[in-house]
Amino acid sequence: MKWEGNRESDNVEDRRSDGGGGGGGGFGGGRSIGLGTIAIALVASYFFGISPTTVLSLLSGGPVSQPQSQQAPNPNRSAQPEDRQTKFVRTVLADTEDVWTQIFRANGKTYPPPKLVLFSGATQTACGTGQTASGPFYCPGDRKVYIDLSFYQLMQQRFHVSGEFAQAYVIAHEVGHHVQNLMGIMDKVNSAERQMSKAQANAMSVRLELQADCLAGVWAFHANQARSILEQGDVEGALNAATAIGDDALQKQEQGYVVPDSFTHGTSAQRVHWFKQGVSSGEVKSCNTFEVKAL
Ligand SMILES: [Zn+2]
Repeated sequence: MKWEGNRESDNVEDRRSDGGGGGGGGFGGGRSIGLGTIAIALVASYFFGISPTTVLSLLSGGPVSQPQSQQAPNPNRSAQPEDRQTKFVRTVLADTEDVWTQIFRANGKTYPPPKLVLFSGATQTACGTGQTASGPFYCPGDRKVYIDLSFYQLMQQRFHVSGEFAQAYVIAHEVGHHVQNLMGIMDKVNSAERQMSKAQANAMSVRLELQADCLAGVWAFHANQARSILEQGDVEGALNAATAIGDDALQKQEQGYVVPDSFTHGTSAQRVHWFKQGVSSGEVKSCNTFEVKAL
């Protein structure tokens, strides 16, 4: 992915020196689970954007608590790669601002960009306390995207998902949720889900997540047209990421079998399909996951 030298966003809020790094807090009570499961939950909730407690409960089958010692981000991380990563995040965020500003303008609307918060360990949000174990997520209440950058290491170590474009996709997916929020889609889904059975509500959440994948694809299409950001293998890398951590793949890895009824975020094939849909058309209207019968 080519990004160096491009515009950097001012909408990044750096809370990494605020402390709160690891230990303490946690989800309270219950049995302890291994770091492997937490890693999966992290990667899962990044793509899925749901509460880590939910993901962890799904994976472990019960309430969880976090191990105290293994949560803290590496304090010996050298300053240089960190600086590069911060620059990268600012640049990708700026790119989403440029693309979505243009798309909104073409529809006679203005795009209020989200803030992106870098945190380490834990931080306060309008959606409750955000933890490292939350993975990156979007909070509609304060219109902010939250990321602990140690998550990128986990992507690499646990799922061998590497490449900067896969990392950019993390941000673009969360910004996709911001776009859904601005379009009123999140509100609609939330109120609809309150009238539904759990299975129906899950099916709605799948559509919301797949739409965010598609919107990330729409971003990639326009960013590439304007700034030629894509290099050989970038899209394949992102698709591999989606394949590696679809619900079916995660369940197989954890339990050895798949339970379709409990899917909340889409299968690998569905995620790949919807990302492709966005990145090949560049059209928001191609992302109507709520209207198609079969995902
Ligand atoms: Zn999501």
